[in-house]
Amino acid sequence: MKPVNSQIAAMGTTIFTMMSALAAEHKSINLGQGFPDTDGPDDVIQAAVDALRDGRNQYPPMTGVPELREAVAAANARFYGLQIDPNGEVVVTSGATEAITACLIAMLDPGDEIVLIEPLFDTYLPIVRMLGAIPRLVRLQPPHWDLPRAELAAAVGPKTKAILLNSPMNPCGKVFSRGELDFIASLVQSHDTYAICDEVYEHLTFDGCQHIPLMTLPGMRERCMRVGSAGKTFSFTGWKIGYVSAPRALAGAVAKAHQNLTFTSAPNLQRAVAVGLAKDDAYFTSLASGLQAKRDRLAEGLAGIGLGVLQTRGSYFITTDFSPLGFDGDDVGFCRHITEQAGVTAIPVSAFYENDAPSHYARFAFCKREAVLDEAISRLRRHFLSNTAAAPIAASS
Ligand code: GLN
Repeated sequence: MKPVNSQIAAMGTTIFTMMSALAAEHKSINLGQGFPDTDGPDDVIQAAVDALRDGRNQYPPMTGVPELREAVAAANARFYGLQIDPNGEVVVTSGATEAITACLIAMLDPGDEIVLIEPLFDTYLPIVRMLGAIPRLVRLQPPHWDLPRAELAAAVGPKTKAILLNSPMNPCGKVFSRGELDFIASLVQSHDTYAICDEVYEHLTFDGCQHIPLMTLPGMRERCMRVGSAGKTFSFTGWKIGYVSAPRALAGAVAKAHQNLTFTSAPNLQRAVAVGLAKDDAYFTSLASGLQAKRDRLAEGLAGIGLGVLQTRGSYFITTDFSPLGFDGDDVGFCRHITEQAGVTAIPVSAFYENDAPSHYARFAFCKREAVLDEAISRLRRHFLSNTAAAPIAASS
């Protein structure tokens, strides 16, 4: 029989699914895939329940129910001073992953170049390749993940159609600075390109560090597609409701991509997310401050075990350098080892690179109950600190 699509055939199952399955198999504490272990706000759940009961269960408008499009526009104005027209500049999608895919489909012709920044979320490259576009990778280096401006400038050229920017950034927790964003904005404008802005962690920033949408910079309103996520903003990752804010011409193209991907998303969940976006400022600040406390708790515990803990300014994640532990293997081996032997699961950071990845970093999610984080730390402590001074910890399990 003829083979299936060659790029699909060559692709593995996503690391997040693999590690969650391994965690389940070993009954390990899953600090791998990034999802909270408690539900989001009760009033948002109640709004979804109510919306299931009031007779609007057929196809909603393709670009999203009016309530949510209006709420997305209002949130853009409230948080960032962005004026977005809910009729024509907002597209609701089935999660931010679909939103990003729809933006890529909307932008890229075969042969177009797109600049991607490593480490990068694992759906970007496969979609770019399936579209026949050419990725130009620019790499941030640990531990500070500063933008290498000369390399970025060298990656942008006459064929560049877009740059894909993820800030706050998964897995490294970097929040791009105003200076870095100014530099990116100047390149986007001088090369007449666009920016796809994956801002799913927009409300999850710490230490007083403010997320600045690239779209708010001078000259960028007409060049950016800004992606948000109800999953991350309201702790309902399974709801899969995302939204794109974009100038009319680009939003129209994104809507046509969405029409061919999922067409619409559950109307009841959309209406509940609209209720969420209208919540008072205290909700958003306490979401961030609660996560910051969890970050600190996990960071302190991991550092106490001897891991090198890199700074996280936003997102759900801490990147750690496990080489001080003397583990004899790479990051995939390490994450498997701690799942099987310590009962704690993390994500190997090499999954966020195309090739030649650094191999001694593991990503831990801290969006979990404090008792769960504490138990994870005590399991890792028991495992690693009872093995110290011995020979390197064998990679094989
Ligand atoms: N964004 C989540 C993470 O990085 C995972 C999303 C997914 O599993 N597709 O862990």
